[in-house]
Amino acid sequence: MIKSKVKILLIYTGGTIGMVKDFKTGSLKAFNFKNLLDRIPELQLLDCDIDTVSFKIPIDSSDMQPKYWVQIAEIIETNYQDFDGFVILHGSDTMSYSASALSFMLENLAKPVVFTGSQLPIGDLRTDAKENLITSIQVASLQSEAKPVVKEVCLYFEYKLYRGNRTTKLNAEHFQAFVSSNYPDLAESGVHLKINKEHLLKPNEAKQLKVNKKLDENIAVVRLYPGISKVVLETIFNVSGLKAVIIETFGAGNCTTEPWFINLLNDAILKGIYIVNVTQCAGGSVLMGHYETSSALKKIGVISGKDMTTEAAIAKLMYLLSKNISANTFKTKYETALRGEMS
Ligand code: ASP
Repeated sequence: MIKSKVKILLIYTGGTIGMVKDFKTGSLKAFNFKNLLDRIPELQLLDCDIDTVSFKIPIDSSDMQPKYWVQIAEIIETNYQDFDGFVILHGSDTMSYSASALSFMLENLAKPVVFTGSQLPIGDLRTDAKENLITSIQVASLQSEAKPVVKEVCLYFEYKLYRGNRTTKLNAEHFQAFVSSNYPDLAESGVHLKINKEHLLKPNEAKQLKVNKKLDENIAVVRLYPGISKVVLETIFNVSGLKAVIIETFGAGNCTTEPWFINLLNDAILKGIYIVNVTQCAGGSVLMGHYETSSALKKIGVISGKDMTTEAAIAKLMYLLSKNISANTFKTKYETALRGEMS
């Protein structure tokens, strides 16, 4: 029997990769996806069949919203049986948020979903788009014993494949725009495509894909800074309908020991608002109780975001809040790695 070619679905959402310069205004704007394929004839050399689907109106990823995450998830759900892998072309600005969200939405995923984009438009002479796109398709096509090698949501950029929900956009200029400070690279592209198999997620393949399309947006993120005032925090905590707040703390999860601060958080928790502690450091983990400046947080029931990125912390909150689970279960689930997003 002749084995049929691997089938990849390319989903174009927008971003620099498919943008052109508006010569009147000088600014970059999204253009028709068809032109993108015309510009990369090399795609025809790949040993796989590629189908494409595009957002009706491609967006700059700074306009990304949960409703678009649902749209991406639905495209994957509809095409899940017919394709071996999915490559999502997406602006780099919010790519880590989207990759994190999709990782929670796609429960029991057993096929590759690779996010990629570029810093320079595909038509630019020095573009990084071609390498990013071609290698992403290769990663999504990788098979071993007729099964995909990668079975998770990941992000490919500038020769590296990362677990999507571990990434953060760190640089607006360098081709190497992303980091995964708390988790090793899943693969590196050099002369050979080196897959670090030991770091890949191993999902339970007996379970069927379940697409969670409900996300609760009633959350807020607060970055602490020396001098943050009581009125600012009170205003945030009094927002109507607020269900959870992520606090980006100092170092290993530390905050001011001012009594008004702890009292304010305590009152919020008593009102049923979840508070999550993530560090504003680029790497490392929250360790509540390690210093006196975090002991009170632990005592009043603040949830530890451990070594999660803020992007993953937001996505996990939106996902878990929509599940209507008890406060105890919520805390336990939040502090457990669901998709390899925390150590
Ligand atoms: N502003 C663009 C976007 O995120 C930047 C990029 O594509 O890299 O859509």
